[in-house]
Amino acid sequence: MQEFSPAQTPGLVCAHHHIYSALARGMPAPPRTPTNFREILEQIWWRLDTALDLEMLAWSARLAALEALASGTTAIVDHHESPNAIEGSLSVIADACAEVGVRVVCAYGVTDRHGPDGARRGLEENRRFLTAGGRGLVGIHAAFTCSDATLEEAAALAAEFGVGVHVHVCEGPEDAEAPARLVPYTRDNWLLAHGVHLPTDHRLAGTILHNPFSNLNNAVGYANPARFANPVALGTDGIGAHMIETFRLAYALHRSVDVTATPETAWRWLQAGWDLVPEAREDRVTWSYEPMDPWHIAFTPGIRPLRVEVGGSVVWEDGHPTRVDGAEIQAKAREQAARLHARL
Ligand SMILES: [Zn+2]
Repeated sequence: MQEFSPAQTPGLVCAHHHIYSALARGMPAPPRTPTNFREILEQIWWRLDTALDLEMLAWSARLAALEALASGTTAIVDHHESPNAIEGSLSVIADACAEVGVRVVCAYGVTDRHGPDGARRGLEENRRFLTAGGRGLVGIHAAFTCSDATLEEAAALAAEFGVGVHVHVCEGPEDAEAPARLVPYTRDNWLLAHGVHLPTDHRLAGTILHNPFSNLNNAVGYANPARFANPVALGTDGIGAHMIETFRLAYALHRSVDVTATPETAWRWLQAGWDLVPEAREDRVTWSYEPMDPWHIAFTPGIRPLRVEVGGSVVWEDGHPTRVDGAEIQAKAREQAARLHARL
């Protein structure tokens, strides 16, 4: 067991990310202002993901990985969709993260939004990546965009490879049928993102992935994950990978509905990331603040990593990545973002 100083933690884990969305910031406003969650998906995310190609994705992933290290996050559980660039997409993400020095668990979010052929190609990309030995899960976008056959095939593929499924569940009210449709399939190794509109007594197995900033941003409501019997882990849903900030927001939101809530609960949610990506326990982050204790961190803004080691090698020091040129990644990502935004 490694010894940690009071200023050190293992590498943090972002348990729900969308690496493809790193180039979204600054995108042109949609033709109409979305007025609910379904319209946010249709007018923003489903227009963006169809415009992605593999080159954009590679720089998006390098940027997301760079920003993860800058936040002391050494492992990302990613959920990916790029309907016009499916084949090979998970390897592009995995390779880009490896270059920067960030661990990633990939999944392609299968969906019938683009017809049965789109669903088949998504399943095939999960199979291809897992067969090649990639660190991955099987992805499902969400029950409400999938046929019964697709849900069944995705669950069977995950069982075949002995991995879990990473799926959005009840993020908005339109996914109300998800618990009934998924209950025959879920296992403890499934990851259930959001659960905002998930009934407390839902009977699904798996870890609930709580994304407080995203849920506020989409005006879908507060998941109040303390109500669930399932384990809970923290994610960003694609808005960076700053898990200390995410922990602080998760604590404050928990407190907003329960005056007896303590930072220790949200800290347990942050620590649950290490059950999902145990390799990150081997990583070490030295922070600008000590002690890295939940009662301190909850009330301390601006904590940043000074040094990040992944698997024994230093990947971040003195504000810079050691394996890649951070300024080049930012410049190239800006170019790719301009190309992407021009397609919207
Ligand atoms: Zn998500």
